[in-house]
Amino acid sequence: MYLARPPSCKQTVDPSATTSTQGLMVPKTSTWIDTHEAEEDVAASEMSVSFQEMSLEDEPSDISYLPPSGSSQSSPDRDSGSASANGDGWAERKWLVSESRLLQLFQICAVCGAAVAETRTTTHSSQIKIQWNCLNNHSGTWASCPDRRGMAENNLLISASILFTGATHTTLLDWANLLHTPIPKNTQFYKMQEVYLIPVIQQAYRDQHETIMERLLQHCASGHTIDLCGDARCDSPGFSSKYSTYSFQDDTTKEIVHVELVQVTEATSSVAMELTGFQRGLDYLLERGLKVGFVTTDRSPSIRKVMRENYSSIRHEFDIWHVAKGVKKKLTAISNKKGTKDLQPWIRSITNHLYFSCDSSKGDEEVCVRRWTGLLHHICGIHRWEDGGAECTCPHPPLTEEQQKRKKWLDKNSPAFLGLQTVVMDKDLLRDLKQMTLFKLTGSLEVYHSAMLKYAEKRVHYGYDGMRARTQLAIMDHNSNVDRPQATTKKGEPRQRFVFPKQSDRWIAKPINKKTQQAFRDDLMQRVLERRDDPTVIYSEPPQHRSSAKT
Ligand SMILES: [Zn+2]
Ligand SMILES: [Zn+2]
Repeated sequence: MYLARPPSCKQTVDPSATTSTQGLMVPKTSTWIDTHEAEEDVAASEMSVSFQEMSLEDEPSDISYLPPSGSSQSSPDRDSGSASANGDGWAERKWLVSESRLLQLFQICAVCGAAVAETRTTTHSSQIKIQWNCLNNHSGTWASCPDRRGMAENNLLISASILFTGATHTTLLDWANLLHTPIPKNTQFYKMQEVYLIPVIQQAYRDQHETIMERLLQHCASGHTIDLCGDARCDSPGFSSKYSTYSFQDDTTKEIVHVELVQVTEATSSVAMELTGFQRGLDYLLERGLKVGFVTTDRSPSIRKVMRENYSSIRHEFDIWHVAKGVKKKLTAISNKKGTKDLQPWIRSITNHLYFSCDSSKGDEEVCVRRWTGLLHHICGIHRWEDGGAECTCPHPPLTEEQQKRKKWLDKNSPAFLGLQTVVMDKDLLRDLKQMTLFKLTGSLEVYHSAMLKYAEKRVHYGYDGMRARTQLAIMDHNSNVDRPQATTKKGEPRQRFVFPKQSDRWIAKPINKKTQQAFRDDLMQRVLERRDDPTVIYSEPPQHRSSAKT
C-alpha cells in the first residue's frame, strides 16, 4: 500500500473486462465517476479527467508521465505551491491507495488501448513509480508524487509533517509498518530533519521572534516598560533532567518572548540550570534594549538573590499561585494533626483571602500585610480590632446575628488556631507578601508548558538540535494562539466546560477557546519545499531503500 496521489484519470475498472483487453479502444471522452465519491460531496468535475487527456499521443519513446495541465486542481503547481484550501501545490489531497488497485490502472495502454505487456515498479520510500510498455511498443512512466530536484516530494512532506506536529518518527513508522505503508526510514528522516526541517523552523522562529522584539522595543522607545513572567520547565521530573528551558512571557500579551534551553552539562543541578537559563535569558533581553519594569517568578532562592544583587532596578514579583499552593500545603498538614480538624473547612477561604489581600492592596505593601494578618481576627469571629493604635475592620459587609451565630469560628487557644497562626505570621511569607502586591500570576506560562508537552514529551530524549527545534515549534504554536477568543454557541453565548481540578474540591467553569490556529505549520511546509528548491543547500541521500519489481 502506498501513500499515493491518484492518477488524474478516475475510473473503475472491472477486472473481468480487462483480462482480454488487447485492442480494446478507450472512448475519447469517457469519464468514470465512482458513485461513492459523489456521495462524499466531492465535485465530480473537479476530479474527473478524461482518459484521453492523459494519453501520450502517438509517441512511442519513453516519456515521463505528466498530469494534464488543463485542470488547476490536479496539476502540481510548483511555482505557487500555495497551501490554499482548494488543494493546490503540496497541500492537495493525498490518498492511501492499495497497490493492487493502483496497478489496475496500468493494464491498458493509455495511447492505443492495447494491453500493457509489462510494468516495472520502483519505490523510494513513500513514492512509487510505474513504467509500462504496451504490446504496440508505447511506454511511459508514472510517479505517485512529483519529484523536487530529484527527491520525491511526499517523502519530504511526510518527514516535515512528523516533526511539525510534534510526533516522533518512531511512532509514525510503527503506525506505517502495521499498515504496510512505506514512509522514509530512520536515517532518511533524520537527514531531512537536519538539512531541511530544523533550519526552516529556526528561520521561522527567528522571524516571529524579531517581529515581537521590534514591537516591544518600539513600546520601550515610547517611554513604557515591559513586564515579564518567567518559569522553568525540566524535560524529566526530578533531578535527572537532561534539558531545562527557562521561558519569558510578556505579561501583557502572554506571548513567549524568549526561551533559554540549558543542557545538564552546562550546570551542576536542575536548580542551577534554572538560574543559568533565567540569567542568560534576562541578560539577552536587556542587551537587546528592552526596558523591563518587573519580572514575576516563583520564590526560588537563587533567582531572588540574583534579582536583588544583579538586577536591582527591576522589580521582582512572586507568583501568587505558587505561594498560595505552599500555604495550602502547610495548612493541610496542620489540619491533619490531632485536635486541629476545625481548620479544615477554612482552608479554601484562607487561600482565597491570600489572593484577595494581594489583589485589593493595589501595590500598597502595608495594606497587603495588614489585610492578610487580619484573617487571624476574623477566623475567631472578631471583625473590628485595634492594630498599633489604629482601628481595623474586616473588608466584608457586617454579618447578621444569624451568620455570626452559625459560623464555626476558631478558639484563640485551640491547636487549630495556634497552628494557623504559625503559617499566617510566617516571617518569610510576611516578607514575600511585599513582592506580591501587583497581583501577578504566571499561570499562563503553565498553559504554554502544557502545550510544550505536545512537541517535546518529557519521557522522550531528544538531541540538542531536535529539542531546540521542538521548543521553537511550541513557542510558535503558543504565540499563534494566545489571543484566541472564547468560542461561542450558535446563539452567541460564550462556551465553557466544567472541570474538577485535582487541587480543588469543587467543579469550576473554564472558558472554551476557539480552535487553535495552525497556519504557521502550513507556512513551515512551504518553506521546506522552497529550501529543497535551493540548489546551494547540500543534501546527500543516505543509502537507499529502493526496490524494484517487474510483472
Ligand atoms: Zn499502446
Ligand atoms: Zn470578619
